Amino acid sequence: MNEPILEVQHLKTYFYLGTDMTTELRAVDDLSYTLHKGECMAIIGESGSGKSVSALSILRLVSYPPGLIVGGKILFHGQDLMEMDDEEIMKIRGSKISMIFQEPSSALNPVVTVGKQIVENLLRHTSISKEDAWKRAVELLDEVGIPNPEQRVNQYPFEFSGGMQQRSMIAMAMSCNPEILICDEPTTALDVTVQAQVLEQLDKLRETHDTALIFITHNLGVVARYADTVKIMYGGKVIEDGPTDAIFHVPHHPYTLGLIQAVPRLDLPRSHGLHTIPGEPPDMSKIPENCCAFAPRCKYATEECRTKRPQPETVGEGHHCSCFHMDLLEDERNEVVRSHG
Ligand code: SF4
Repeated sequence: MNEPILEVQHLKTYFYLGTDMTTELRAVDDLSYTLHKGECMAIIGESGSGKSVSALSILRLVSYPPGLIVGGKILFHGQDLMEMDDEEIMKIRGSKISMIFQEPSSALNPVVTVGKQIVENLLRHTSISKEDAWKRAVELLDEVGIPNPEQRVNQYPFEFSGGMQQRSMIAMAMSCNPEILICDEPTTALDVTVQAQVLEQLDKLRETHDTALIFITHNLGVVARYADTVKIMYGGKVIEDGPTDAIFHVPHHPYTLGLIQAVPRLDLPRSHGLHTIPGEPPDMSKIPENCCAFAPRCKYATEECRTKRPQPETVGEGHHCSCFHMDLLEDERNEVVRSHG
């Protein structure tokens, strides 16, 4: 593996809620990882598990009140983004580290043409001339597969379909050849055929520019196809992480196993029904310090799980899991992995 470009160390991002702001919600609680050039890392979890907040924290886009990064380091090529002033972080945001948001229609400016939005990003972060920036905008739209880019560059976002809006977001995010591209559920709002095209586009861009991708998603199919490594988040913490193959073939955490079981199967009769994880995601402001956050939904939970917090243990090469009773999972795991191929 090459040199790490991003090292997140013990990141903690909390929200302070209520009229007197005394309710503490630990959206991201002690997150650490390393990202390498050209790597695709997926962060998986239910809504509210902290995955999007962890991405926004990297770009320092969490605003106070109510959100605050209360601890940790975010090292980009060894430089701590947390210690940079606004001007320094602005130079990195959109040029070295870019982000694609879930809803392109709300991320794009509706009263500025798509081309002008790309050109503005290029002029802000590079020394390119205005004329060359417009040529580059046309090239970028062409690269992401938008037909008639010379004409489309002068159109407004509302004149684009959802898929084309998302592709223009990718073009904009890639305009300065970023080293890291954070994709926050980039295909959730798209239909399946357009989803596949956008994902292939992102993968191609990773290959051609060696860009590292952080993929935030709840779509395990996407993860299995594109990610090199996976982090499973629950209640603001990573509860299992490792190489993609290991996560899918030897999952150690009951929650990971539940996510795999919940993937719909086309080969089973309708009578088989869909598997769900019982219960609800936890209220993040009410997770006690000394317990496993998954305990209320876990069929393997014991008294130990309700009174102590499990710590990450190494279970394979680069594979870690936080659970007291991983051994109890073995039979169920073998059965699930066998039936899901
Ligand atoms: Fe379930 Fe206990 Fe493991 Fe938590 S620590 S996932 S409650 S078995």
